[in-house]
Amino acid sequence: MSEIFLRCKYIISGEKCNKIIKDGSILIEDNKIIAVGKYEKVKTLLSGHDQINRLQHVAIPSLVNSHTHLPETLLRGICDNQKLKNWLYDFIWPFEAKLSKTDAYFGALLGCLELIESGISGFIDQYFYASSIENAVEEAGIRALICPSVFDNTPESGDLDKTWKSVQKFLLSKRNSKNGLIKYGIGPHAPYTVPKEYLLNIIDFASRYSLPVHIHLSETLHEVKESLIKYDLSPIEYIHKIGLTDLKILGAHCVHTNEKDCKIMQTTDFTVLHNPQSNLKMASGIAPIHKYAKTGIKIALGTDGSASNNDLGILEEMNIAAVLQKYLANDPTVMNNAYTLSLGTISGMRTLGVDTVGLSEGSPADITILSLENSHSWPQNNPLSNIIYSSSSSDTSDLIVNGKFVYLNKKHQTLDKHKILDKCSSISQSILSEMGK
Ligand SMILES: [Zn+2]
Repeated sequence: MSEIFLRCKYIISGEKCNKIIKDGSILIEDNKIIAVGKYEKVKTLLSGHDQINRLQHVAIPSLVNSHTHLPETLLRGICDNQKLKNWLYDFIWPFEAKLSKTDAYFGALLGCLELIESGISGFIDQYFYASSIENAVEEAGIRALICPSVFDNTPESGDLDKTWKSVQKFLLSKRNSKNGLIKYGIGPHAPYTVPKEYLLNIIDFASRYSLPVHIHLSETLHEVKESLIKYDLSPIEYIHKIGLTDLKILGAHCVHTNEKDCKIMQTTDFTVLHNPQSNLKMASGIAPIHKYAKTGIKIALGTDGSASNNDLGILEEMNIAAVLQKYLANDPTVMNNAYTLSLGTISGMRTLGVDTVGLSEGSPADITILSLENSHSWPQNNPLSNIIYSSSSSDTSDLIVNGKFVYLNKKHQTLDKHKILDKCSSISQSILSEMGK
C-alpha cells in the first residue's frame, strides 16, 4: 500500500471549494484521500507515513483542462493574427496535413509536460491519431478523456468514411483502458463539418457503448447564421432535433446561443466547455456562462488547442473567465472565487467522468500544490483570491494524480523533459520548412 502524508499552509477543501483549512494535512492511501483536516488532528492517524511538508503552499483539487487538441502544441506560435479562414487554410490545416503518427505522439508528450507543470491532472481531447495521444498519456501517468475526431480533414485517413471506420475500430479495441486513468468518447468535429448521416451513425454507436460526444458548438456567429439558413435551426437545436442530445454532450464553446438552446442545455446531459481565451483571440465572442450557471447548466473550463490560445494553463483561464463575466454582466459580484475555482477543478474532473467531492475524504487523490512564495502571492491575506487573480501556472510545485506524484518539487517523475522539448522543436521546424514558412 502506498501512503502519502502531506502538510500544507492552506488546503482548499469541500465540494464547492469554499472551505479553507489553515495548517492542514491530507492523508492518502493508495489512490484515495482518507483524511483531510488540521495538521494536529490528522497526524494522530499516522502510522509510518512519510511526511511531505509544503509549508508555504496551498493544496487545491487538481486542475482539469476540459477542451483541447493536445498535439497542437507543435503548432504553437505559427499563426497569431489572422482571420479564422486564413488561420485554418493557410497555416493550421497545411501543417496538420504533414503530421505523422510519431509527430502527434511527441506533440502529445509536450502537451503532457505542460499540463503537469501547470498542475493539471487530466484533459478532454478531440484530435486524430488517438493511439499516439493514448501512448503519451499512459507514459505521463495523467488522466484523459480521449475523443477521436470524426472529420474529413485528417492526415490519418484522408476521408470521412475511412476516418469513421478507423474511429470505431479504435474505440471497440479500447473498452477497458490499461490503468483506468484513460476514458474514451467520440469527437465529431462540429455540425457544420460532419454530415447528418455520420452524426446519425455516431448516435447509434455512442448509445450502444455509452460513450460521451465531444463536439464544437456555436463558436462563431457565422456558424450559427449558416445553420439557420441551412436548417432553420441553430447548431444546438439541430443536434437536439436529430437526437444527439439523447447522449452525454460535451459542447465546446456555446458562445452564441438563444433561449431554446439554453433550455436544451439545461434539460439534457450537457456540459458547456468554456474556452474564454481562445474565443477572445479568434474574436469569436464571450459565452455568457454566468447566465448558464444561474439555470443549472453544467460548465467546465478548457483552453482549446495551443494553436489558438496559446498555452494549456487553467489558472490563467479561470482569471479570464471571471473578469469577462463581470464585464458581460456589468456586475462585479458574479463569479465568486470559490465557484470560479470549482469550474477549473471539480467540474472538470466530473466532466472527465471521475466521481469526486474535491479535497475531502473518499475522493480520488488528485491534488495540485501551488507555491505561495512568489511575490505575486504575497501577502497571503486571502488564498482563494491569490489563486484566481494573482497566481500563475508556473507556481505549481507538485502534482499528485490518482495517489502518485507525477511532479515532485518541480521535477518530472514520469517524463524526460529535455528529450521531448528537443524532439518537438525539430519536428515543428522541419514541417514549417516543408511548408516554406
Ligand atoms: Zn477546439
